[in-house]
Amino acid sequence: MPTKRLAVLTSGGDAQGMNAALRAVVRTALHWGAEVYAIYEGYQGMIDGGDQIRPMTWESVGGILHRGGTVIGTARCDDFRTHEGRRIAARNLLEHEIDSLIIIGGDGSLTGANLFRQEWPTLLTELVQRGEVSQEVADRHTNLTIVGLVGSIDNDMHGTDMTIGADTALHRITEAVDALSSTAASHQRTFVVKVMGRHCGYLALMACLATGAEWVLIPEYPPEMDNWQEKMIADLKAGRKAGRRESIVIIAEGAHDRHGNPIGSTDVMNILEKGLGEEVRVTVLGHVQRGGTPSAFDRNLGTLMGHAAVQAVFDATPETEPQLICLRGNRITRAPLMECVERTRAVAEAIANHDYERAMELRGGSFKTAFRTLRTLLRSLPHKPPPRQKRLRLAVMNCGAPAPGMNTAARAAVRIALDRGHTMFGVTNGFYGLIEGDIREMDWMSVNGWASMGGAELGTNRDAPSSRHLYSIARNIEKWGIDGILMIGGWTAYRGAYELYRHRDDFPAFNIPVICLPASINNNLPSSELSVGADTALNNIVWAVDRIKQSAIAQQRCFVVEVMGRRCGYLALMSGLATGAERVYLHEEGVTLRDLQADLDQIVAGFKQGKRLGLIIRNENANPIYTSDFMAALFEEEGGSFFDVRQTILGHVQQGGDPSPFDRIQATRLAARCMEFLIENAQAGTPSSAFIGLGAGGIQIHDIEELPQLIDETNQRPRKQWWLELRPIAQILSQLGPALPPGDR
Ligand code: ADP
Repeated sequence: MPTKRLAVLTSGGDAQGMNAALRAVVRTALHWGAEVYAIYEGYQGMIDGGDQIRPMTWESVGGILHRGGTVIGTARCDDFRTHEGRRIAARNLLEHEIDSLIIIGGDGSLTGANLFRQEWPTLLTELVQRGEVSQEVADRHTNLTIVGLVGSIDNDMHGTDMTIGADTALHRITEAVDALSSTAASHQRTFVVKVMGRHCGYLALMACLATGAEWVLIPEYPPEMDNWQEKMIADLKAGRKAGRRESIVIIAEGAHDRHGNPIGSTDVMNILEKGLGEEVRVTVLGHVQRGGTPSAFDRNLGTLMGHAAVQAVFDATPETEPQLICLRGNRITRAPLMECVERTRAVAEAIANHDYERAMELRGGSFKTAFRTLRTLLRSLPHKPPPRQKRLRLAVMNCGAPAPGMNTAARAAVRIALDRGHTMFGVTNGFYGLIEGDIREMDWMSVNGWASMGGAELGTNRDAPSSRHLYSIARNIEKWGIDGILMIGGWTAYRGAYELYRHRDDFPAFNIPVICLPASINNNLPSSELSVGADTALNNIVWAVDRIKQSAIAQQRCFVVEVMGRRCGYLALMSGLATGAERVYLHEEGVTLRDLQADLDQIVAGFKQGKRLGLIIRNENANPIYTSDFMAALFEEEGGSFFDVRQTILGHVQQGGDPSPFDRIQATRLAARCMEFLIENAQAGTPSSAFIGLGAGGIQIHDIEELPQLIDETNQRPRKQWWLELRPIAQILSQLGPALPPGDR
């Protein structure tokens, strides 16, 4: 079988994470024995040919994971819109006998690719007729295979939950809005912040959900009323009256009113200045949103999608329609490319036709739910309770180690319950608060500003209750008349909730619904693929490792970095994937002396070949004997003159900091569902207890009785850990070079 030859290009607007995708495409293709070319400067490079189409090696994509933008350049190219331009592009590809393309771009680039494939047979005929390509070459490449990856900060493609770059753009936006919030609060000021998104309000909506912003204008769903200006002013005034010190309005660049009249940031500023009688400042975030180093999520998304794209090229037959690589429910999948592009366009059309219900429908369930939740959270005060409704008394508490996002979840829970007309209590310091009766009533403004705050304002504690504490807990539940409890936390929460459930017969007070919301940086909780806090911790690790790597640029040095996770290797593996670590040690796999010897040989070989930096990431409990100290000493001794070794234990830096946008969004979505569960179950005859989590099928609630079957009690982690499936990909990409000589596959 002749060697497969494929090319990769980035096109249209740049997005952070494109480099990770490029690296994964190149290395996976080489690993599987293909030859791979990069086309520089998008379609323009394909038309220019020559040096713009270059063969790639393993090393040519080294050291690019942390870089924003795209190292192979991107461009907009009008010539590719013409038939003649595409004929020249085809000729240039055939010069290298390339007939498979992986395109990383937006819907425009992918539409162009589809057209190119449709025309391919005609282009071949023309090229043969013109004598520019021989019949033999044309016969060898009768089909063009197209696989698309969406690189777009707007998150505007149907079919994928996330596009490459959107998460990083949200990082940039939340950093900016958090910064503006503190200055705005100091001066009691109002800011209007404009974010990108011409037809897609994802960034604006999620930024508003993730920060303390008060009003949002998105293209898909303009304000319902014609006098929206008055409503906005009234809401902002009410917020101030309720005690807010700052007001922030987020506006998507494509915002307009119900009649399609554009609403610009200056319009909003003028309206607010007049209505509030104070100075209003505008911040247009602009290209900052495209910039900077990619988030951990975007690096890993790019990597996994790039890997999947090569797989799709290998699987393609002449009949295979162009495929789009998508993320759905935390899994990488494929979908017919043009179907996704057409449905994406349908949103823009619905907006143009002022059919906003349809635009929201097309965006999908979680977008709509997020919009609904946002409307509750942004109110300056809750709705008045319905007259004959039973007023439930619900409580929220944190349990276990602090996880960034705990406050965000508590804020959402408190406001949602109050808005539904119930009373909400906050329990201090986890189960201690329940044991000692350290419980206080929470009002609307008591959680103001918590959306973006790291730490745990209610306090938290690692101790689960023992049997001697159950009596006091039962008494306090009765004393405060608590009808349901939300426990935000890790292992302690799950264990504690199960204890209360188990003792329902002994203590009637425990016959109330309890629901656990997974919040732990370790990501070691059952039926929850991503617990709140893990994304922030991952970003903290990646941030630190990037700096550690840079510090070593002058010397030949190998780092052993120890990360948290208890006995769960999630943080170690995912940070290894996001930073390009040569080796990751996990408790799940253990460490043997033979492994260490083999890894050492590989690392020494690498340095002999001219490598300047080695990176090893080790989960804190990977092995009790082969500690970080031991590994560093062993590698140092055996590395001889080729490299020296330093070890870094990242420690509590990982738990700190303000929650990442993903953790804030996730915390809010989960808390909203938890409160629905509590409210429903507190009114039921036999209330159930449960835990919630994000699985491959979306957010799901599981009965607490399922807990024992799902956990590995000894190692305090779920029996099934989805991310272990990613292990082979990390192994392929971190090798020193391709495993097989080209042509062996
Ligand atoms: P994005 O891919 O980010 O949506 P554009 O819409 O600007 O960005 O598209 C990028 C490039 O893709 C264009 O400059 C052009 O070269 C090519 N392209 C876009 N639409 C088409 C089309 N309908 N036919 C052919 N080429 C297209």
